[in-house]
Amino acid sequence: MDFSSLGLSVPLLKAIKEQGYDQPFPIQQETIPAILAGSDIMGIAQTGSGKTAGFALPILQQFQKKQAAKNRFIKALVLVPTRELALQVAEVFLGFSTHLTRRVKTLAVFGGVSINPQMMALSGTEVLVATPGRLLDLIDNNALQLSELEVLVLDEADKMLNLGFEEEMNRILSLLPKKRQNLLFSATLAGDIQAIKERLLHDPVVISV
Ligand code: AMP
Repeated sequence: MDFSSLGLSVPLLKAIKEQGYDQPFPIQQETIPAILAGSDIMGIAQTGSGKTAGFALPILQQFQKKQAAKNRFIKALVLVPTRELALQVAEVFLGFSTHLTRRVKTLAVFGGVSINPQMMALSGTEVLVATPGRLLDLIDNNALQLSELEVLVLDEADKMLNLGFEEEMNRILSLLPKKRQNLLFSATLAGDIQAIKERLLHDPVVISV
């Protein structure tokens, strides 16, 4: 199996090669075509599985067909439990964006640092990688709009619940448009994650690696 057989465009294939990826990991072989087809995804996968590229690549590709978002209207939101993961995920989006004809701005936001630079950096951002608390602070400051969101990724959702982010997650979910693509990733399918899966996902493709 080769990346070029997954339906990815030439600029992405070029970036993939530059990142030193030879072949798609098993999770990527499944997520990439399914996300490109518009399906909801339940990915049961650990860190190290390659899940980040598994959702970043098809999201970036789908954006190429779309008009740029209005300023401060986020089109794809990736919710993550920690600052470290936020930075890592944004880095993956940036690494794959280098050759795109339509540039897609990705930004990571997280707590523990001052909010003002993040508010300014949000200008032009289409892919936002965020920890839940800081995202809500930014929303409360009118720094961004979620009403035109098209894709939601919950990354390491089990860890988000373990860290006590359930209430924040629910508040964020209540602010999103109903019609959207949902990609849920978790290391386990334990009780609470099963409930989120039932509630959030429509006819999902379930991938376990
Ligand atoms: P992740 O599980 O998304 O955190 O990815 C784990 C590590 O695997 C990261 O360092 C990626 O850069 C790397 N990686 C992801 N996909 C591939 C691939 N197809 N080939 C080689 N390395 C990869």
